[in-house]
Amino acid sequence: MFHKILIANRGEIAVRVIRACRDLGIRTVSVYSKADRESLHVRLADEAICIGEAPSSESYLNIPSIISAAEIADVDAIHPGYGFLSENPHFAEICESCQIKFIGPKPESVRLAGDKSLARETVRKAKVAIIPGSKGVVSDQAEALRVAKKLGYPVIIKAKAGGGGKGMRVAHNDGKLVTAFLMAQAEAEAAFGDGGVYIEKYIGEPRHIEFQILADRHGTTIHLGARDCSIQRRHQKLLEESPAPGLSKSLFKKMGEAAVRAAKAFQYENAGTIEFLVDEHEHFYFIEMNTRLQVEHPVTEMITGIDIVKQQIRLASGEKLSFSQDSVKFNGAAIECRINAEDPDRDFLPSPGKIETLILPGGPNVRVDTHVYSGYVVPPYYDSMVAKVIVHGKDRSEAIQIMLRSLKETTIGPIKTTVPLHEKILNRPRFRQGKVSTNFIESLFVAPSLEPVEARKAG
Ligand code: ADP
Repeated sequence: MFHKILIANRGEIAVRVIRACRDLGIRTVSVYSKADRESLHVRLADEAICIGEAPSSESYLNIPSIISAAEIADVDAIHPGYGFLSENPHFAEICESCQIKFIGPKPESVRLAGDKSLARETVRKAKVAIIPGSKGVVSDQAEALRVAKKLGYPVIIKAKAGGGGKGMRVAHNDGKLVTAFLMAQAEAEAAFGDGGVYIEKYIGEPRHIEFQILADRHGTTIHLGARDCSIQRRHQKLLEESPAPGLSKSLFKKMGEAAVRAAKAFQYENAGTIEFLVDEHEHFYFIEMNTRLQVEHPVTEMITGIDIVKQQIRLASGEKLSFSQDSVKFNGAAIECRINAEDPDRDFLPSPGKIETLILPGGPNVRVDTHVYSGYVVPPYYDSMVAKVIVHGKDRSEAIQIMLRSLKETTIGPIKTTVPLHEKILNRPRFRQGKVSTNFIESLFVAPSLEPVEARKAG
């Protein structure tokens, strides 16, 4: 087992990893940018090293600085968290060549899954359904038009290096396709330094359902069940839950088996996630594999009792999985709300600044993962998420009730947050009935006159 781990990340996930290390008796090293001097991950680690200026390109994405810090602190392993360098195969390779264990899959798996159009081809060969689309990258407008005509509108143009919903555009006809194609290419180039895009059939009102994978390097791959992440804004997740409401036993079984097949096709090791879209006819299609820890991993931890971060560390150190697929039990229901420093009433305008008042929820079955505290200043440079509230109930309706109680207790001010939006979502009859799809948030904003009476009164 490792003695010392460097966490190449910030915010709540750095804190989360420090906690897992401490539980395992492993020493921790945090790295931080000049804007994060006062962050909790710096205070909680055994050691902390400043790695550069505020912009992430000069700190959390700066490979030489991070590797130097790892060498100075003499760590055995690096945990990359999510975002930043977590899905950068080059970084994983450099770690290995410096004899520092990268806590994640092999660089080849990261590379393969990171090229989303190659990833489609990989899982197709493993007999996992993919959304009909272009074979590989679409290079010019003429080809885009040909592919779209064949698929039939609407279509979605997606970045091959994609992530976070960037470089993604939907087109409903030939006229819109050309602009959408050019915009997606430009956005992908700006975000990932790779303008390659591919085209898929656009599925109307799908559910986003993903499976948590754990795989050891001795040939065992299992899943820890499904998370429904359909509550999204602009293709970015806001609220996640497990199990996926209303998913029949037979579909769950089929999807779980497909997810394990897909992970094996990537020769996957460590924790990862297979993402699917499910259409109204209960057909499911692979969209991508995330080769890292997910923001929403706690909902799975809540219902399985398995600590995914500890598992990541154990698996990276070469241990065998100590449980089988059949021994994974699912207990009750869990929901996570992402609390972002954004103003939902002003088109989700970022709302950084000092947190003067902070009251976080507690009580039975409530977990809060956060790096903020009273007096903390949310810097404008990074992701806007300030906390995750996760709850566990004996069933979905109890979980909803506990989440509403938790959100009512939460005060984060004077900055604006997504707390009121989550309350609105949880009060909607459509959500309570489990009728979720990726257009849910849009429908919340488009039809205010259809709001339920209790939400109008509260507003
Ligand atoms: P990213 O890696 O940028 O997050 P994904 O491929 O995971 O991109 O897709 C993110 C979200 O975009 C999905 O959860 C879904 O809401 C939407 N999406 C992606 N592909 C399609 C599609 N073919 N049809 C409809 N929606 C899609």
